[in-house]
Amino acid sequence: MATKQTRGVILIRNGRVYDHDGNVDMPPIADLLIVDGVVAAVRPGIAQAVERREMIPELGARAIDQTIDATEKLVMPGFVNAHYHSHDVLLKGCFETIPLELWVLSALPPSYPKRSTAEIRARTLLGALECLRSGMTTVQDLCTIYPFDEEHLEAVLQAYEDIGIRCVFALQFADQVGSSAIPFWEEVVPAAQRASLSGAVEPFKGVDLPRLLRDIVVSHRDRHPRLTLALGPTSPERCTAGILTKLAELSEAEKVPVYTHIYESRAMTLIARQAHKSDDGSLINYLKRVGLLTPRTSMAHSVWMKPDEIEAIAEGGANVVLNPVGNLKTRCGVAPIRTYIRRGVNTALGCDNCSCSDSQNMFQTMKLYAGLAAITHPEPGPPTAADAIRAATVSGARTAGLEGRVGALRPGMAADLFILDLTDPSFVPLNSVARQVVFTEGGRGVETVIVDGRVVVADRKITTIDERALREEVADLMKALRKDIEAVMQRNDAMLPYLLEAQRRTWEVDLGVNRYVGNADD
Ligand SMILES: [Zn+2]
Repeated sequence: MATKQTRGVILIRNGRVYDHDGNVDMPPIADLLIVDGVVAAVRPGIAQAVERREMIPELGARAIDQTIDATEKLVMPGFVNAHYHSHDVLLKGCFETIPLELWVLSALPPSYPKRSTAEIRARTLLGALECLRSGMTTVQDLCTIYPFDEEHLEAVLQAYEDIGIRCVFALQFADQVGSSAIPFWEEVVPAAQRASLSGAVEPFKGVDLPRLLRDIVVSHRDRHPRLTLALGPTSPERCTAGILTKLAELSEAEKVPVYTHIYESRAMTLIARQAHKSDDGSLINYLKRVGLLTPRTSMAHSVWMKPDEIEAIAEGGANVVLNPVGNLKTRCGVAPIRTYIRRGVNTALGCDNCSCSDSQNMFQTMKLYAGLAAITHPEPGPPTAADAIRAATVSGARTAGLEGRVGALRPGMAADLFILDLTDPSFVPLNSVARQVVFTEGGRGVETVIVDGRVVVADRKITTIDERALREEVADLMKALRKDIEAVMQRNDAMLPYLLEAQRRTWEVDLGVNRYVGNADD
């Protein structure tokens, strides 16, 4: 395939090109010209001018290397998966809907023996492949590498480089042990089993953490044009004020985003009330105190946020990244979507872990984002379908520090896009592109994906890696991983009565906010 990894000049002709500010129901038909990875022009008539050998100002003396016919197709800005983790890609489909804290113990790296470099590479490629196939051109990977290993970090970054997706990489870290941040765990779990309790990541042993984080940013930032770096404190309650203050300085000095989890579950909210009394039980106050409530910070989930905290987020210009699919699967409740919108908080969307959502599918996420606002607001109103598409593109770009570079198809912006088949039943008849993208399409129609001007998916096939070889390698790696999953599940089964007791006690405490709807009838 000649176009596999070359950039050059690509002409996408005769497609409906989606413009957030244009006619989102029936985007007009136009040609889109890409020159060296950048959108050079979007207008009708470019293809005809080329056929007539007329001068195209944006092209100069260059020739077109590839023409893609987009007749009866939609050209969309690529989605930005603004919250994702590559570390549990191989565990998709392993769990029913279980509470977040049980899932963390079942799925995340600290519960497992150290993985092989081959497994790290395979899972990174597979996760990125799923993202690309469903129209995501940027992924924000808040990745746990535990225990930390330079070789594993290198494997992750190389995998992203090889497959050709745009990646914002943040190493997930904490400097407090996980069990200390879950209410009642240390009280109810017998001493003999307490060593098995862990969080999404545990403190790295023998590592100068501020230095490591700075080194990663500095040494990899010029690695390749599709990679940018970010900082990943797993959640404020797992990090000391000392490390967060240093992080705020590093984020400011290096102009890098900060990604964290906040108030995902009821337990994560209760620990704030219990352990952060000097901040009025608020992690938002804590982040503000350490200098992290800024436009560079993105807070994943933000489910159990109080109205005054939402005000403070809006004032600080910080972002939230909602993950409605994962929140439902881990029984965390529903984020106050309409309040974030009303307060003008930049609201992006993520698909979170592969074993808690369990799909990297922005179509599902947009549909839930648009629909779940109905739980609190029965009257019609935002978010509209077009709002959901903005959240999945331009708002995500802002959280990635890529505002104005990705998220829309305008001259001068990166050529990150996908082409959707409008002859698929999802779009027949074509009544509204925005509404059918959000409410009807499930991802079936994604045919072509271009990242940074490279065709990485053509005719629904990845062009950059050998997908069959990857599948075979994963099958091989699963032989060892399945045994480890089995052992973790047996260990957790033995702790289950205690974990559920901690959960019950958590549910009994009044938090001053409720993100569930109604009460069970039995
Ligand atoms: Zn997450």
